[in-house]
Amino acid sequence: MAEEKICKTIHQYNKEPISSQNMEKLQEIADDYNKVKNYVFSRFGGIKSLPKLYPGYTIQNEMIASGYRDELALPFVYFNLAVFDALGSIKSQWTTIKAEVLQRVNANEGFTDEEKHYLRFVLKVGNAFEMVLNRREVRLDKAMQKQYDELCAKVSVPKLNNYLNRQVRKRHVQMHSEEANGFALTERAYRYANHGIYITMKEKRKRIFIPLTDNNSYNRQIYMKLYPEQRSIELHVPLYVEVKKHTDYTSEVGLAVGIHTMLVTDTGHSYGEKLGEYQIELSEWVREQRARYMANIHTNPGRKKYEAKKRRMTQQLHSYINMELNRFIKEEKPKVIYIPKLPKARKHGGDKAVNHTVSMWQRGYIKSRLRQKCAEQSIELVEVFGKDISNECSKCGAIGKKKEDIFYCSVCGYQIEQKQNAAQNAKKRGLVQRSQQNR
Ligand SMILES: [Zn+2]
Repeated sequence: MAEEKICKTIHQYNKEPISSQNMEKLQEIADDYNKVKNYVFSRFGGIKSLPKLYPGYTIQNEMIASGYRDELALPFVYFNLAVFDALGSIKSQWTTIKAEVLQRVNANEGFTDEEKHYLRFVLKVGNAFEMVLNRREVRLDKAMQKQYDELCAKVSVPKLNNYLNRQVRKRHVQMHSEEANGFALTERAYRYANHGIYITMKEKRKRIFIPLTDNNSYNRQIYMKLYPEQRSIELHVPLYVEVKKHTDYTSEVGLAVGIHTMLVTDTGHSYGEKLGEYQIELSEWVREQRARYMANIHTNPGRKKYEAKKRRMTQQLHSYINMELNRFIKEEKPKVIYIPKLPKARKHGGDKAVNHTVSMWQRGYIKSRLRQKCAEQSIELVEVFGKDISNECSKCGAIGKKKEDIFYCSVCGYQIEQKQNAAQNAKKRGLVQRSQQNR
């Protein structure tokens, strides 16, 4: 049996600040790359272009014939990848739209079985889908046509086609990429050597050399993210790693994620107890600096230092989060983890909102790292319904009270550290959820 693999993104960093001249050249590629993407979005992102999307070489050919590459003087290695990148986004939008409409159709009790069959057929057969959307007569190959005609005989085709058109047009948006903060590189656009990486430039035969903090080299498509203010870059390298399986990981753990202590388990173990200190330090520093520089933020020479320090502090915080997540997994040896779903971010003004945003964002980071680590080690991560999870008594289910980190239940008398109570609820809800799924 083939080993199960999972994609993991490795990051690489520049060792020294990049000269402003080189930074400009990199930015130029990112700008052009973004222009090409937007050109593809505007020209092929619409419903009319659906027939051209698969297999896609029609679009590659049309793009080369357009003369846009010559106009930008962008090397083929970047131009082709930008086209490919944009096409990927367009296709994934279509996949999402079809999946959503399909879900809608399946859940709609107003449709007869025959009507559902017809709609599912059109959503699944690519050619039929684009012909219906473009209001053309559906012509398929012989076997498919026969199936299609049979389905048509039992339903009102115009009514269903109108429904599909409405549902799709409601969801379809014209894509546009605002930010030019990076670009993808194929193997032909870079070369690792001399403790760094050489990058192909727009000028013929010119390369930029960037010393890196590590000596690893890769041979695949990578992504370069630019931080011009800090004169820094980040390389994102997708790697496929083997999924680890631990036969000794058998526990089922309920978790509460917090701002001060990162994780509390249902048995009362804590991980990431210094998270609060790190976060307060970061958000207070950000607020102070913001107040100081807000007036002349674009011209202030301290801006670069500010960005660099903010990035360094965030990296420190992240490495602490990762270290503590690893410790959690190693010590708890979980087979299944139950965690409450994230509440939706709120948008309101005031200073509190800044702190709130910072902590909300870290929650997202913690969760995405936990998700990745679980996937790498074949641990099941179950998200449970989060409403009232910290207000409910995990013993009897009544709504209790919280005072100074202790949860009290006046119905059954249960008293426990409030985060542990929430973690116990996560496990309780998770177990119910899973038993319902397995039924
Ligand atoms: Zn109770």
